[in-house]
Amino acid sequence: MENFTYYNPTKLIFGKGQLDALPKEVQQYGKKVLLVYGGGSIKRNGIYDDVIGKLNEIGADVFELSGVEPNPRISTVRKGVGICKQEGVEFLLAVGGGSTIDCTKAIATGAKTDIDMWEIVTKKEKVTDALPFGTVLTLAATGSEMNAGSVITNWETNEKHGWGTPNTFPKFSILDPANTFSVPRDQTIYGIVDMMSHVLEHYFHHTANTPIQDQFCESILRTVIETAPMLLDDLENYEYRETIMLSGTLALNGMLNMGYRGDWASHNLEHAVSAVHDIPHGGGLAILFPHWMEHVMDENVNRFKQLAIRVFDVEVAGKSDREVALEGIKELREFWNRIGAPSSLVDYSIDESTVELMAEKTVGARPEFGNFKKLTKQDSIEIFKASL
Ligand code: NAP
Ligand code: FE
Repeated sequence: MENFTYYNPTKLIFGKGQLDALPKEVQQYGKKVLLVYGGGSIKRNGIYDDVIGKLNEIGADVFELSGVEPNPRISTVRKGVGICKQEGVEFLLAVGGGSTIDCTKAIATGAKTDIDMWEIVTKKEKVTDALPFGTVLTLAATGSEMNAGSVITNWETNEKHGWGTPNTFPKFSILDPANTFSVPRDQTIYGIVDMMSHVLEHYFHHTANTPIQDQFCESILRTVIETAPMLLDDLENYEYRETIMLSGTLALNGMLNMGYRGDWASHNLEHAVSAVHDIPHGGGLAILFPHWMEHVMDENVNRFKQLAIRVFDVEVAGKSDREVALEGIKELREFWNRIGAPSSLVDYSIDESTVELMAEKTVGARPEFGNFKKLTKQDSIEIFKASL
């Protein structure tokens, strides 16, 4: 392992009826609250009314920013920053999935500076402050509820970037699995692919002696693989939703990657596809990740072999290491296809005409990307072409 410091100040409030904790948690930070949410799912499933009821208990002065897009946009962040400054907002409450939470992180930061948030998202400027915020998670996927990361899209420049600061951890996150009952089948699938991808991004590294971390990763992958098909047959099963919700949080709260750095090239590739074509993040990952694996596996075939054996129970007798590794990748791809995830960029009507642009967006201003294997623009062209 490498030396590391683990820091995660988010209070996780998990389980049935835990929204009851909301008034006490919000009260500590002020009464002027900006409620941030998406396109209206929380109005349809009743979570909006429940949250407003809880905020009324403490006499909160509630302002609202609705309409946060899946793949949240910098224009919406700017709108939220404007409300915070104009109204003197003291606390932000994100109610939704990763997009709403990521957008809230950016608004909370933008509210404390005169620098435009795109400068901060693109790391040209730094900010060390943010308004406090909490979350009520309604979709299991990103882990944003217990990490400091945020991904924001600029639709004018077709760019999508991840950023974060030590101040963009939520103060608390309330996770009631019942709040995910209404997540439709397709979004449930995308969430499952995203959380598995986070574990896989961690898994591919070259650091020696990470047996605990490896087995944490493998146990989350095995658990999700076991639970996902049962959940997709029974979308309102509390226990399956509970298992998937906790898996999503653990996959990206910093616990799995203690002492080493994961890869993240597949996320870079997917962000470029989403920035150009606005597709669901999990859908893009299901297509791209197995192709990234095939592209880089010779860098350290033993990591892929270990995954194949320990997660997919691939038999080794009479096979080369490479054959075992390839079979593991095939099993992963087939699992995602079996649960209904897409397998080709063509499924999103993407053809060769934007490959060059997406490759440019993947690399951006950097010469290379990815950690397991340093990749160039040419590598991304090859991976995108293989994904068509
Ligand atoms: P999302 O974009 O937040 O939500 C997807 C869709 O699900 C929305 O249409 C939303 O509808 C709907 N939805 C959410 N909860 C629902 C519920 N309970 N019932 C019915 N519908 C519901 O999805 P996400 O996968 O959580 O977030 C994706 C974003 O997060 C991407 O931009 C991705 O790049 C980013 N991301 C962030 C991190 C991180 O660590 N910060 C990690 C990975 C990915 P409404 O809009 O109507 O609510
Ligand atoms: Fe992700």
